[in-house]
Amino acid sequence: MCNNHRLSCSCGQSQANLLFKNHILNPSVINNIFCPECSRNVNFDSESMLADNNWILEFDVVIARGYLHRANINPSSLSPAFIFDEGYASWNGLTPNELDQRLVERQQIIGLAKQDMHLYLEQIKRWGSRRAKKFREAGWRKAQLC
Ligand SMILES: [Zn+2]
Repeated sequence: MCNNHRLSCSCGQSQANLLFKNHILNPSVINNIFCPECSRNVNFDSESMLADNNWILEFDVVIARGYLHRANINPSSLSPAFIFDEGYASWNGLTPNELDQRLVERQQIIGLAKQDMHLYLEQIKRWGSRRAKKFREAGWRKAQLC
């Protein structure tokens, strides 16, 4: 949890939870985050941007390259997809705000434990796979891999 970075989108209406694998990169490689609202006006540039379900992450690829190089990571082509898919700068969770939803949903299930332990165990088991399926069907990039 302490590794989570909560960053505001460009219009300020939304926030995204980001995780930087092994702390090789940090928020300075994120030039902009666009939520589904503010991404409408963005001229998409595939050299620096990654789109995921109407959210857009804009990277400073030069800074990212520098940090990765320092960690001895030198991919032949450093693309936004590489940075994101390898987890060097990625959502914390399957979506920008899964983390927050997860806490709320988990609280609801935990409430069940007091009433019905059997039902609780069943629910908590099915919860994870159901969530992944839901996000996969919604088209989230990270959910396609699980
Ligand atoms: Zn926004």
